[in-house]
Amino acid sequence: MSKVLIAEDNPVNRELLRELLEARGYVVVEACDGEEALRAIEETQPDILLLDLGMPVLDGFATVRRIRENPALAPLPVLAVTAYAMQGDRERIVAAGFDGYLSKPINASKLFQEMERLLARRQSAKAGN
Ligand code: MN
Repeated sequence: MSKVLIAEDNPVNRELLRELLEARGYVVVEACDGEEALRAIEETQPDILLLDLGMPVLDGFATVRRIRENPALAPLPVLAVTAYAMQGDRERIVAAGFDGYLSKPINASKLFQEMERLLARRQSAKAGN
């Protein structure tokens, strides 16, 4: 089963995501800020990352930049989780290196649809298709 890393500083949001994802059968790893997320990627090798934009220490934009700059981490699919989905934000998020974004409050079916799209793409990339 796929492993998902949740990087989110708000414990209530983190718990909500964990419950949704575990109920769907995902293995969940958690991080509370961007630095922790970078460590957790190396230590736990997740298949996908859900990355909150507003976090202490290292925010989501800085974290995705570090991921894309590191060849060992760069292929990881990363979805932004954002409270501010305003006009123009989608462009900014995609330009920053995210593969997509989800607006809070999180809609479960949209979450799974986006994750499964990216995980399928990653599988076929691994298979060399
Ligand atoms: Mn936050």
